[in-house]
Parts: sequence; C-alpha cells; structure tokens
Amino acid sequence: MTCLEAQSNIMGFIDKKLPDDKVTDFVRHVKYCPNCMEELEIHYTLIVGMRELDSNKELSLNFKKDLDEELNRWDNKVKNVKRFKMSTFSIVFVAAVIFFFFMYGQILNKVYHIEQRLIKEKQGKYYFYEQFEDYMPVSQRDIVIDSIELNKPVEKTYYEKIHSYNLTHNIHNNDEE
Ligand SMILES: [Zn+2]
Repeated sequence: MTCLEAQSNIMGFIDKKLPDDKVTDFVRHVKYCPNCMEELEIHYTLIVGMRELDSNKELSLNFKKDLDEELNRWDNKVKNVKRFKMSTFSIVFVAAVIFFFFMYGQILNKVYHIEQRLIKEKQGKYYFYEQFEDYMPVSQRDIVIDSIELNKPVEKTYYEKIHSYNLTHNIHNNDEE
C-alpha cells in the first residue's frame, strides 16, 4: 500500500467502513510509515473528538492511546488469523505425511506378498513337501519321493542320443539306398 492509498483510507478506517483485508494492509502501512501515522493521529483526534463532543460524551483524554489500542487490536487479529492458517496447514501436512507412510506400508506389503507367491510358484508343487517333510507320515513321504523321481527328466545314454539325433535329422543307412 502506498502513502497515497493509505491516506485515502484514513476516513474509512476511523469510520470502521473498510473491508478487513484493506484494514490489514492499512494498519501494516501506518505502523512503519511515520508520515501516515501522523496523518492518521491528526484525523483520529479531530473526528473522534468532534463526535464525542457532538454526542455529549465525556471527552477522551488520550486519543493517541485509543488509537494505539485500536491498531493493536487489528494487529493481534491478523496474527491470530495467520496462526490459525499455520495450524490448519500443519494439520493437513501431518495428515498427508501419515497417509503417505500408510500407503507406502500397504505397497510394501503387496510387493512382499507378490514376491512370496513368485517364490512359491518357482519352487513348484513340491514346495510344501520341502517345508513339511518332517511332519509327514512315512508312507506319504514315499509317495512324494516316488513322484519326484518319476518326473525327473530321464538321462539318455550315449547310444540313445545318437539314435534320436539320427531320427530327427533323417539320416538313412547305406543299406536302404
Ligand atoms: Zn505512508
């Protein structure tokens, strides 16, 4: 707010007709601008004094003090609003942080379960056998071991390897030609 704007708001301030945000700017300006403060004091003393005389009220002995109280009242109001805004902001911020960590935990949990499932799938159908071998009755253990043996890929002998190679490559014996 410039000095010109501040001084044009003096009457509005004294009459309490300024919107709140204008008063905030105005009070901030006059606090740090001795010229405008002086101007305000003169107008305040004149106008408030005249009104008190008009309404046959007892004349205030210290207009300066009255004005300072009025200005301080506004200052505190502004500070309280700021404090409230700060606390609202911090509540929202803390809530956001908590929410973030909650979601992060959920995601970690999900990743953990996916990893566990992948490990189980990789280990195949005998996973539970490896885990619970010691708790199985002997007969059941034998069945599992038999089926593991049956499902193992059969190791071919050297002769069998040549035989299957010949079959797949269509190599004929000289006799057939
Ligand atoms: Zn000024």
